[in-house]
Amino acid sequence: MLGTLRSIVQEVNGAKDLTDALGVIVARVQEAMETDVCSVYLLDEEARRYVLMATKGLNSDAVGTVSLGYSEGLVGLVSVREEPINLEHAQKHKRYRYFPETGEERYESFLGVPIIHHRKILGVIVVQQALNRRRFDEGEEAFLVTVSAQLAGIIAHSEATSFIGGNSPIAKKKYDISFKGVAGAPGVAIGQSLVVFPPADLDAVPDKKTLSIETDLMLFDASIICVREDIKMLGDRLSTQLRPEEQALFDVYLGMLDDKALAGEVQTQIKSGICAQSALKRVINDYASHFEVMSDSYMRERAVDIKDLGRRILSYLQARETKKVDYPENTILVSDELTATMLGEVPQDKLVGLVSIKGSGSSHVAILARAMGIPTVMGLVDVPLSQLDERELIVDGYNGDLFACPSDELRVHYQNVVEADRELDEDLAKLKDEPCITTDGTRVKLWVNTGLMADVMRSLDHGAEGVGLYRTEVPFMINERFPSEQEQIRFYREQLEAFAPNQVTMRTLDIGGDKSLTYFPISEENPFLGWRGIRITLDHPEIFLVQMRAMLKASEGLNNLRIMLPMVSNVNEVEEALHLIYREYHELRAEGYPVVMPQVGVMIEVPGAVYQVKELAERVDFLSVGSNDLTQYLLAVDRNNPRVAQLYHSFHPAVLQALNKIAQDAQEMKVQLSICGELAGDPAGALLLAAMGFDALSMNASNLLKVKSVIRGMSMTWAKELLDSVMKLDSPFLVQSTLTLALKEAGFGRFMRPSKVADASSQNF
Ligand code: PEP
Ligand code: MG
Repeated sequence: MLGTLRSIVQEVNGAKDLTDALGVIVARVQEAMETDVCSVYLLDEEARRYVLMATKGLNSDAVGTVSLGYSEGLVGLVSVREEPINLEHAQKHKRYRYFPETGEERYESFLGVPIIHHRKILGVIVVQQALNRRRFDEGEEAFLVTVSAQLAGIIAHSEATSFIGGNSPIAKKKYDISFKGVAGAPGVAIGQSLVVFPPADLDAVPDKKTLSIETDLMLFDASIICVREDIKMLGDRLSTQLRPEEQALFDVYLGMLDDKALAGEVQTQIKSGICAQSALKRVINDYASHFEVMSDSYMRERAVDIKDLGRRILSYLQARETKKVDYPENTILVSDELTATMLGEVPQDKLVGLVSIKGSGSSHVAILARAMGIPTVMGLVDVPLSQLDERELIVDGYNGDLFACPSDELRVHYQNVVEADRELDEDLAKLKDEPCITTDGTRVKLWVNTGLMADVMRSLDHGAEGVGLYRTEVPFMINERFPSEQEQIRFYREQLEAFAPNQVTMRTLDIGGDKSLTYFPISEENPFLGWRGIRITLDHPEIFLVQMRAMLKASEGLNNLRIMLPMVSNVNEVEEALHLIYREYHELRAEGYPVVMPQVGVMIEVPGAVYQVKELAERVDFLSVGSNDLTQYLLAVDRNNPRVAQLYHSFHPAVLQALNKIAQDAQEMKVQLSICGELAGDPAGALLLAAMGFDALSMNASNLLKVKSVIRGMSMTWAKELLDSVMKLDSPFLVQSTLTLALKEAGFGRFMRPSKVADASSQNF
């Protein structure tokens, strides 16, 4: 069964669209289960009906016409109960419904299994048997459940593609198609998409028409000549090492490039009006899926060769196409994985939004986007990238939502949000030089998180009183090798000078997890629980010591440096790090540098550290909570994984309890306490943190004035009352709604993040 399942999945993966995919599913399942009928019903959300989308066994004319109400018939029952229903006498069941158009009366036995993707019912897959009825046995039921589970993602993806392409048989609604991701950088952008495809990636090639058949044919033929030469050369080079039968493979390759084979098919497609790259992608996928379903494992492996051949031709095609990109006025840059270089290529006055299918809110690109103030959505699931090019998109960087084909209503809603944001920014700018103090006189320090020089300018514009977190890994990530001591001194000095005399808290290199350096790759099964932050730098004192030396030297004469240690999980790490810092300090003094010993602090971002606040406080000058990681580790939710993003909740009562305990222990120890996770930049979060007794809140520059405005508008007594009532709640949603309500009632409604309109159609696969 496993082999059958694998070949079905592979064949479906190679299908060109949803109709094709469903056709493959019903035919192959009917055959594998040796039953009379296999059908797939998909949910038309707009009509709230299940539409017969594909069948093998029922009357094919019924496809697209027969449909059942949401909870109608046995199909509806399967969907409502969200579990398989297996009946020997289906016609005797009270929910049985009869559709003459399907010719269904002959079928008795029924097994229906829901197709569920990310908790959402997409449809129902049904097998039926004729009069010589049978009860589908346990093994068959398990098989259909497995097929359904494996295919749900593929169906969701091809549904998305068909929706966007506008050719889905159930896509009555062609507007406001939404995709769920995670918030990368706050704000809303409305604009035209420009998809940047990774080079030589066939899957990423969009379906496009040719602009000139003649040019495309010429380009393609020239690419084939180059690939032929490459293959001949490769064959010659390996001739002494390969057996004759292996050598023959190169001849097979060359044969495929023949006019009569693969190349001929691509040419035919180009002549029919498809552009060269799209034609190549289609033909290669057809060939590959043909090989992938073969039962002979040797032949299956040939699919890999076909794809390799395709990539080779594609890279020549791409190299030959002139790379003149016309950036739309309001460019929303979209890519599978955005890089800093891609960002750099767009004229800054045209770039309004960013979408990266891979990555997270803490990815390098997201950090960069926040620094530049460009609304960004990251980590989207099941997005048909190749269908997103040249479309109007809306990026909701507050909620992590992306909308394609917006309706007038949705566009107007978001235009209002953009306008409200602009007005808010104008109003808030007036607060830049005002102190951050509550109405009853409590002073709260507002710092910024930085990483690049771009952050510095924005931070100063927003009246930051210092830097609570300078992510030193950011300049490391931009480099192509470890930066030298001199290079590090230069970028540390820039930060220290820009904020002097205010303090700049520099975090020691925090790589690992999802933050990697191309020149220092780390591959681990479980990177977030692995070699991260201080664990790496203590294992590599040569890296740590150079960084300490550079920081200390950079601070000469300014004396506003603070050093902060990330990912600390025990006191020994702190002692070892302190030892190295002191060593470097004394060495520099001995060499004649008049450096001053900076304050050293520890980040509390591992649950273990929460219970050792006092022990840690005895050893250092300050503590700073990394609530992003602390939340991820307390709730066991990967902060970058969009699949579990709804479980990552900074207002989870367990997180609040931990933060409160940290604050109480820090106060008892009289150690300075700040926070530099995203929660500090959330107006409601900032209120609670101030009430808990955090001395300083460090955040993204773009949130600073909002937080200042809220703190200046409230009394500490009121904030503490709110904290007391919130600490009694047991659900993150209750906490969130209580805070939202309280802030709205107190007149801070403007500062709450705008949410998308309630009735926008959601295609959240
Ligand atoms: C945190 O974990 O809260 C933090 C500030 O560090 P980073 O987001 O860089 O991991
Ligand atoms: Mg962290």
